[in-house]
Amino acid sequence: MLAECPYLGGNENLQLAEAASLFQRNESPPTSSLYSPTLIKFGEKSVAVAQTTCPVEREFIQAETDIDGKEVILVLSNRCSLTMLFVFLVHLGLASWLFYMQGLQGAQAKEKAESVWLRRIDLAPARGNIYSRNLQILATCQLTYSVWADPNAIQSVAKKIWGQQVSNDEIGKRIAHEICSMLKAEQISERDLARRLSRTVRNRSNGKPILVRFVWLARQLDESNVIELRRILGMKRAKDVPPEWRIIQAGVGISPEVHRIYPYGRLAAATLGFVNLDNIGYYGVERGWDEILKGKAGSVELEVDALGRPLPNGYLSYLPPQTGSSIILTIDEQIQKAAEKVIDEAMKKFQPKSASAVVIDPVNGDILALVSKPDFDPNEYRRFPQERFLNRPLTFVYEPGSTFKPLVAAALLDHGVITEHSIAHCNGTWKTETFSVRCWVVQKGTAVHGAESISDALKHSCNIAMAQFALKASYRQIYETLVKFGIGRKLGVGAGFEEAGWLDPPNRFLAKSAIRHHQATLAFGQSVAVTPMHMAVAYAALANHGKVMKPRIVKGIKDEKTGKIQWLKPQDLGFAVSPLTASKICDMLISVVEEGTGKRAKLEGVKVAGKTGTATKVVNGRYDPTKVVVSFFGFFPAHSPKWVIGIVLDEPAYGKWGGEVAAPLFAALGQQILWRVQPPRPLSLTQDLTALSFFSHVSSN
Ligand SMILES: [Zn+2]
Repeated sequence: MLAECPYLGGNENLQLAEAASLFQRNESPPTSSLYSPTLIKFGEKSVAVAQTTCPVEREFIQAETDIDGKEVILVLSNRCSLTMLFVFLVHLGLASWLFYMQGLQGAQAKEKAESVWLRRIDLAPARGNIYSRNLQILATCQLTYSVWADPNAIQSVAKKIWGQQVSNDEIGKRIAHEICSMLKAEQISERDLARRLSRTVRNRSNGKPILVRFVWLARQLDESNVIELRRILGMKRAKDVPPEWRIIQAGVGISPEVHRIYPYGRLAAATLGFVNLDNIGYYGVERGWDEILKGKAGSVELEVDALGRPLPNGYLSYLPPQTGSSIILTIDEQIQKAAEKVIDEAMKKFQPKSASAVVIDPVNGDILALVSKPDFDPNEYRRFPQERFLNRPLTFVYEPGSTFKPLVAAALLDHGVITEHSIAHCNGTWKTETFSVRCWVVQKGTAVHGAESISDALKHSCNIAMAQFALKASYRQIYETLVKFGIGRKLGVGAGFEEAGWLDPPNRFLAKSAIRHHQATLAFGQSVAVTPMHMAVAYAALANHGKVMKPRIVKGIKDEKTGKIQWLKPQDLGFAVSPLTASKICDMLISVVEEGTGKRAKLEGVKVAGKTGTATKVVNGRYDPTKVVVSFFGFFPAHSPKWVIGIVLDEPAYGKWGGEVAAPLFAALGQQILWRVQPPRPLSLTQDLTALSFFSHVSSN
């Protein structure tokens, strides 16, 4: 609906830029900049709209020409939604229209109407809920009320009643005092309100201040706050009504606004994400499933007069907004709580820059918990820096180090290039013609590993043995298996932004020596980049007889109107390795925990399969031994796994080895999950209750 603006004319973008700069001088924060201003033809009016580039909140400014060609500059400041822009255009919310319609006599209205315009108001839909797998509400909508004013109307009516000598500031003060006493909301300052009620901008042509036509007085109040104001706005306009009330009736309105709330606060914040004031999903599931959740806007079209009032018996159409569908996550809020507690304690104890945890059901790919720390509260996201909004299990890209060894071992066994009986030799340092590999025993000053099978290589986490085994295959063979595990591509979880990581394709290398070196380092998890989710999915495949399940965060879509739930099927991505290979690797990973570097991941009563990882980070092109990523990935019960857990800590200030830092965190979380299924005896009262509630949720599912 773009059209030539009759008043501005000429180069519309240039004119808009002028309007925008006017806005910026008076209203906008200096950091925001404007882009692609547009003209919207709206009934008889052309409206210039420009948008700031702030990624979270969109701010709009607009300049409008009125019917007489007389300039009116309208400023929509604060954080206004596109929906509110339309509401603003008609100067009123729907509720106020109805008050007007009731209050106006038909003949009187017709007399005043100079021309007839068709006006449209977009009605914002309510957003669908987000549930946990146990049907606990993690995100929902609340109806709130926002109060706005037209300072221009207020000032002109006030001057008619009180006389021209009363200053704008004085009118602002008197009306602000009256509105404050009606709203009784603590967060509203009378002084701030008075300032808003006399807000001006400079006229574009002569630089004189003119009153704006729209300001927010208060956003998202409870219904109890607006009852009194609503009563007064609904009163008949009569002479015996106090003058302050008559002024308020002329230029104040209430608009319903839908407000998103997250009842569990910080729980799974990065996975849920949040919505901005436009109710558009930003980050997390709110972003990934926005199309399903957001619903469809409705609209009201009606004929209005020159003063923007609806005509009695005029054309009126009403299309109700459609509430969005709700989604049911795979997240188990109890496991999520347990995982967050473990990681919160790790943040205090080891003081890493950040930490991630993932819990997956390997059989269907359901993500049971997804932890990203440091976190934020989606109810108050504006208080937090933007980097906290990222869901680190999906966006933290790192070199996996030793946790990658089982994947390479699986590739080698699956292609038949080695067997369980093949032997490699570790002497602490292995030199070839073009490169050399060191084993961690040199760094720790312990005895060299000597002759090792592939199982020993995993158990000891020996880089040299892994490199020697890996060089028995072609690069392409290893590459093919890793791709099937999901390495080097986006996994399509649907919980917001996701990183693909990096795995070099075979055709990238020209020199044979380069590919050999690359292959050797890949064997112990260097020169490859993954996210914690990549590793969790690959380990889940090993736990699931070699079959890769697509990780998923949503298991059902619910229509709130009918209560009907559409359950989504788990997605099978095929086998990365044969069930036999997977079972061999599982046995090896059990011995890592039973006898090797992963001893601290042991759990009471069940066998655990897993692998530690300590990856040195690259700083300025060199490996910096003081900066490490420590991790542990594993699953249990080892012979029929139900849970895969991944723990990743970035640059812990204390603790340098995955076996010392991440393995105990795995055990702490694993134990809590087990206690919920199989309470230890004798039972304490609290454990018993937790276990019961867990079962009741499972059975209700
Ligand atoms: Zn070694």
